[in-house]
Amino acid sequence: MSSIRSLTIAVCLAFIYVKATYGAECWSKNACIDTSVCASKGGSSQRGLCSGASNIQCCSCSNCMDATTCKARGGVSHTGICSGAANMQCCKMGSVVEPVSGTTPTNRMLTDLADILRGAGLTVVEVDGWKTRGHGIMASAKGILIHHTAGPASGDFPSLRVVRDGRTDLPGPLSQLGLGRTGTWYVIAAGRSYHAGETIDNSIFGNSNAIGIEAEATGVPSTNTGHAHWPDVQYQSYIRGVKALQAAYAIPTSRVLGHKEAAVPAGRKPDPNFSMDEFRAALNQ
Ligand SMILES: [Zn+2]
Repeated sequence: MSSIRSLTIAVCLAFIYVKATYGAECWSKNACIDTSVCASKGGSSQRGLCSGASNIQCCSCSNCMDATTCKARGGVSHTGICSGAANMQCCKMGSVVEPVSGTTPTNRMLTDLADILRGAGLTVVEVDGWKTRGHGIMASAKGILIHHTAGPASGDFPSLRVVRDGRTDLPGPLSQLGLGRTGTWYVIAAGRSYHAGETIDNSIFGNSNAIGIEAEATGVPSTNTGHAHWPDVQYQSYIRGVKALQAAYAIPTSRVLGHKEAAVPAGRKPDPNFSMDEFRAALNQ
């Protein structure tokens, strides 16, 4: 009798130990779903938190927001992988593909960048060697990432050297394009540039697939609303240049994201310090 009792206690203790050590669970049983379904909702899967087949994993979303806000930002909302009220849904950006003309480049250097911008009536400075500069060719140009330099407070494009040549920790080019305070565009590289880092979808917004534009700005104030602290000539040129790139390369507005929107984990980047909703609305006018 006592040996059975001891055994029972031992088994129970072992169970409690295992539960305490390995007992992490998915945040919701309903979030234990197929990994490909999770990806299609804009979520990411974590193994080891759900029972069942290996494809059933814990799905969570790093971009939960109000569905109406998501739509205004050009995204598509998906239910089931966000906690909270029903309107809080996983917002997947870049998934709406509006009808667009132009041709998406494939596996090439973007040697037509200067002509595209000049064709839109913009002032363009071609930086020596730009047509062969890059970390390899672009796989595509499916997306555009909007940045600011957080550079010096004066001068048209004082960040040119660092964007072209890089920093000690990151070799240049750091973006294909620069935008000066006067609205002048600097064409720096035709190839892959290190501007994006990890993104919500590297097949659209990663370095191999997205054009990076570094606009000269201090990044202060860090407000996310409006663009009153940007020179109007620069802001209007930003819109005009992006529109020209969208038309040439068939890039829908839902694939024009601020670095602050595309970077993962969320909150990793603050740029640009203007409203991307307002910027995208202007692109569609
Ligand atoms: Zn950035």
